[in-house]
Amino acid sequence: MMHGLQGIGMTSLRTRERMICRLIEQGISNDNVLNALRNTPRHIFMDEALASRAYEDISLPIGCHQTISQPYIVAKMTELLLGSAQRLTKVLEIGTGCGYQTAILSQLVDRVYSVERIVSLQQKAKERLSALNIKNVMYSNHDGHFGWPEHGPYEGILVSAAPPEIPKMLLKQLTVGGVMVIPIGNANKQQLQRITRTQNGYRGEELESVMFVPFLSGTT
Ligand code: SAH
Repeated sequence: MMHGLQGIGMTSLRTRERMICRLIEQGISNDNVLNALRNTPRHIFMDEALASRAYEDISLPIGCHQTISQPYIVAKMTELLLGSAQRLTKVLEIGTGCGYQTAILSQLVDRVYSVERIVSLQQKAKERLSALNIKNVMYSNHDGHFGWPEHGPYEGILVSAAPPEIPKMLLKQLTVGGVMVIPIGNANKQQLQRITRTQNGYRGEELESVMFVPFLSGTT
């Protein structure tokens, strides 16, 4: 295989290390998050034709009109989700996509529950994570509006598609003290938000402007 797990040339460890330096310059400071990105071969999550661009700070197509988020956004969302915790026990991810964010989470969380509405994308993601010997992820093909109540509540919920407003069912599946990181908005304007469940309600923070694919209904 041209681009094996190890990587050569533009997919080598050196290229990955340059990506890590860039993330530090961009303000990512959680060492556990940086190490997870350092350990994860991003090039295997995309088509071979795009593998040479895998470590640039850009989003790239993954099929079915979906995109893999740029490394900075993956790192930032993961850092926000962890907060001051070293590790979380249970996290719900909405939008498995190619599985890259899932692979990062799997290294920082005891168990990841990952929901995706497009079955073909999730199937490929499953194969990639199993090739990386990642075993602490559970997958489900359903509409993420509903979360995954059977396994909740979760200490963290990470959403990687943008709904116009926060899905109510997801809020209910957070533990007290739990954190949800989610882009909110439309095709023109979106804001990354962090919502923390408190003893008597929810606290929201608006972070930076982002651009995600839309959060859609139903499954395919
Ligand atoms: N973190 C992913 C990002 C993929 S793009 C990655 O690294 O590849 C966002 C994903 O969210 C797409 O795969 C899309 O199909 C999925 N998605 C959008 N709306 C959804 C919904 N309601 N439920 C579940 N998944 C959804």
